[in-house]
Amino acid sequence: MGPRSAELFAKGGVETMEDLLYYVPRTYTDWSNISTVGSLRTGDRVTVIVRVVSCDILRRGRKEIFVAALEDDTGAVFARWFGQGYLKNVLTAGSRAVVSGEVRFDRFARRIEFLNPAFEVMGDDAAAELVHAGRIVPEYSQIGTLSGRRIRRLVKTALDRFLDQLVDPLPENVLRKRGLPGLVDSVADVHFPPSLERAARARSRLAYEEFFLFQVLVALKKRQLAESGRAIRIAWRDDEHARFTRSLPFELTGAQRRVISEIGGDLGRGEPMNRLLQGDVGSGKTAVAASAMHQAVASGHQAAIMAPTEILVEQHFENLRALLAPLGDRVVLLRGGMKAGERGEALGLIGSGEAQIVVGTHALIQEGTSFSDLALAVVDEQHRFGVVQRAALREKGSAPHILVMTATPIPRTLALTVYGDLDVSVLDEMPPGREKVVTAVRDEAARSKVYDFLKSEVVSGRQVFIVYPLVEESEKMELAAATKMYEELKEQTFTEATVGLVHGRMKPEEKDAVMEGFKTGNTDILVSTTVVEVGVDVPNATVMVIEHAERFGLAQLHQLRGRVGRGDQQSYCILMVGRGASDEARERIQVLADTNDGFVIAEKDLEMRGPGEFLGVRQHGLPRFSVADLRSDSRLLVQARDDAFAYVAGDADMSTPEGRLLLDATKRRFRGRGAFMDVG
Ligand code: ADP
Ligand code: MG
Repeated sequence: MGPRSAELFAKGGVETMEDLLYYVPRTYTDWSNISTVGSLRTGDRVTVIVRVVSCDILRRGRKEIFVAALEDDTGAVFARWFGQGYLKNVLTAGSRAVVSGEVRFDRFARRIEFLNPAFEVMGDDAAAELVHAGRIVPEYSQIGTLSGRRIRRLVKTALDRFLDQLVDPLPENVLRKRGLPGLVDSVADVHFPPSLERAARARSRLAYEEFFLFQVLVALKKRQLAESGRAIRIAWRDDEHARFTRSLPFELTGAQRRVISEIGGDLGRGEPMNRLLQGDVGSGKTAVAASAMHQAVASGHQAAIMAPTEILVEQHFENLRALLAPLGDRVVLLRGGMKAGERGEALGLIGSGEAQIVVGTHALIQEGTSFSDLALAVVDEQHRFGVVQRAALREKGSAPHILVMTATPIPRTLALTVYGDLDVSVLDEMPPGREKVVTAVRDEAARSKVYDFLKSEVVSGRQVFIVYPLVEESEKMELAAATKMYEELKEQTFTEATVGLVHGRMKPEEKDAVMEGFKTGNTDILVSTTVVEVGVDVPNATVMVIEHAERFGLAQLHQLRGRVGRGDQQSYCILMVGRGASDEARERIQVLADTNDGFVIAEKDLEMRGPGEFLGVRQHGLPRFSVADLRSDSRLLVQARDDAFAYVAGDADMSTPEGRLLLDATKRRFRGRGAFMDVG
């Protein structure tokens, strides 16, 4: 190809001949079912070979509709294409074409037609050749201005010239175990398959391969972490654990006990723990973390817990101090807005080791904080922390054990990909006595009724959250809207109640004062932007109203809903949808009303919005897969992971010829693709 095409390809990530051969079709058109115009019947999916008799462009509003009359020796049929006026230069009268699609009945014109069918102009050599062979034709996504057709031609040439040079990176025994076709056959079939079944089999093999290569990286990364240093061995002390459980105001759930013992096992080994704890909002992750931190202290070392917001840090500090100080553990707070004196004192205690449990925000991993003997680091609400921060935290101790906690259930495929280097524990049981949060979707028409309901809750002594979305791009405007809403609510709607406002632009002291008012019950209704998203624990709050719910992801809505239902009163979540919300958005939100299971919601969210949107953060370490699809290929991913981990366990330094081949292929395939690891 010429340099211009090469440049366009490169922009789309196709830089080498190998990349091009792995550039799989988006879909296929089945040209193999060739029929004659005279025998067409409504509902048939067929291909016909026709002459273009005449054509015309109709306009409806701003849309152009291209209409062509087509015929062969047995009859005539019309075809219409919407919004594709440019076809007048492609399907000119007199040209020959192959047209493929579903035959439908046009009720107005009372005749059969093709609507937006696929087609090939016969003048095009490649097309003629393909059609004569009765082939299934690949359709490629265009790259910049490179059309799918042009890509097809280039792929064909690349296959003819270079296919036999491809070397299969998958180990023999893996191919055999999974009954996978070889690479050369698969690449040939994925582009120009003899049947749709063969195409699917080939695509599946290539998707498996992509996952396998990626999981080899994950396995290597995981091993690298395990070998990154000798961790401090924390031998589990049953007597200390018994003291801990006795001081808890509740019995641990079965899930909490199970996870605590998983963590206990990790702590006792010489390798650093790298564990992800997933548990829905309210499942009791803090108690699990506290039990592990207490063990670290009991064996003479330091533990730290890091949370993303000041409010949450404050809350952890209070809870942990209440829980652990009576056992003799010294709990110290380190946060952003501290006065120099206080800060110096805290840093001093951390440095000397007198601070046995340290609670802080990101400040904990900033320069200048140095621990005397950090053995365990807990990171709460992981989705706010990137891999980079985890690494920085790791450097604060020699090789501390790391426990990452998240209330955002992550679908299995994403967990295995983004957090694939971590072991995973799940708290899948709620503490007893929790009432399910009753959830309803409401629109503007119901607003005054909703307000009446809020008033009645306030009158009976309960508290209410009203959350406003803040979209980063238009933060100023949104903030103005939230503030205005707050003033209206305060002055006009809830004149009998105390209404507070909290948002991200406030100074920490102001924020704290407002939150304090809500926690103590002085404030009845708290209007906020999404700062309450994480953590805040106010058991007396029974209603969560979310404005413009359509602007949030499902997982985020679920998080917000978790702010209520923390006490023993029946709680409610009211999802207000704005006037402009689409039907699709309403349907999406309805999922929340239908289930309380965070994992079900996460799977749906992933399905509807895709992995990038789901994770919602820029620095999320999600690689861009070119063949595999994290939504539909989860079974392949699980297999590939098992196989890749088994392989790496058996070829530890990847020094066999097979191992070297694999490593090379992995590096080539994931270069510059945002893969989070960096292996020799
Ligand atoms: P999250 O997993 O969302 O961080 P928390 O750790 O904040 O949840 O716990 C939520 C609430 O449940 C807290 O008030 C906590 O004291 C309480 N809790 C935790 N474990 C139990 C339990 N086993 N039984 C009863 N209440 C519990
Ligand atoms: Mg929590």
